[in-house]
Amino acid sequence: MDGPLYVSDQRTLNPFSQRFIEAAVQAGMKINHDFNGEHQEGVGLYQVTQYMGERWNTARAYLHRGNAADKSHSGRRPGLAVMTGTVALRVEFEGKRATGVRIVRDGVERSLRARREVILSAGAFNSPQLLMASGVGPGAHLREFGIPVVHDLFGVGENLQDYIDVTIRKEVPSADLYGYSQRNIMRMIPELMRYRRDRSGMFSSNVVEAGGFMRTSPDLPEPDLQFAFILALLGNRGKDRDKKMPPGL
Ligand SMILES: Cc1cc2nc3c(=O)[nH]c(=O)nc-3n(C[C@H](O)[C@H](O)[C@H](O)COP(=O)(O)OP(=O)(O)OC[C@H]3O[C@@H](n4cnc5c(N)ncnc54)[C@H](O)[C@@H]3O)c2cc1C
Repeated sequence: MDGPLYVSDQRTLNPFSQRFIEAAVQAGMKINHDFNGEHQEGVGLYQVTQYMGERWNTARAYLHRGNAADKSHSGRRPGLAVMTGTVALRVEFEGKRATGVRIVRDGVERSLRARREVILSAGAFNSPQLLMASGVGPGAHLREFGIPVVHDLFGVGENLQDYIDVTIRKEVPSADLYGYSQRNIMRMIPELMRYRRDRSGMFSSNVVEAGGFMRTSPDLPEPDLQFAFILALLGNRGKDRDKKMPPGL
């Protein structure tokens, strides 16, 4: 593995994660030692976005330190300017070649010209939205909104998929799990010391250490079901939202 955005194996394995894997194997699933490898199917331990037991992220990787192994790297990357409070309105084109970005900042619009390339990375919703606002997308649909068509491309803005999330909860009175009982809190004190000492133990866990992927039908080419074994009682993520609404809604 190389590159500044670190993906690591977990440093400490919770006994319940181990038991989950054993139970899944007993139920007929295969162990997968690397979900990011050739095959996703099976049960095993997730890798985490961590460096030496600490949560890692793109800001730490690319803005603050460049490369964690290079302690002399003091921070700023040459050639990088981060403009906060700025909204991209559209990508600008000359013919079919992207040449810059139209932005608005403090209520003032201006164009930024690209010397080499424009990378559009605005997330699942805004990437297609920006493409369409720039004239790249289904032509007839863009014309409905008066957007000049740069490239008539079917599929942009289509196929957003959501997933169903089913939570099965079981209360287990064990201090190896994460909870708010007096026993759990007492357990956390030495765990906190351990984490401070060598970035291991319960505080280095992502709390979803183990899981798996399976196919609901052998005819499917890829797994379509994912398990996440969580070491704490998970809230139900707003699934009882409707109950708070007045009757009839
Ligand atoms: C609740 C939740 C939990 C998740 N948990 C995990 C996890 O545990 N592990 C994992 O690997 N992934 C997880 N993911 C998925 C992960 O967060 C995404 O896959 C990842 O963030 C996508 O990165 P991105 O850079 O493509 O887009 P984003 O992270 O969405 O970044 C897009 C950026 O573009 C900016 N932007 C959008 N439009 C404009 C505009 N017009 N002008 C200027 N800026 C704009 C947005 O403000 C945003 O900062 C989770 C996602 C969610 C929602």
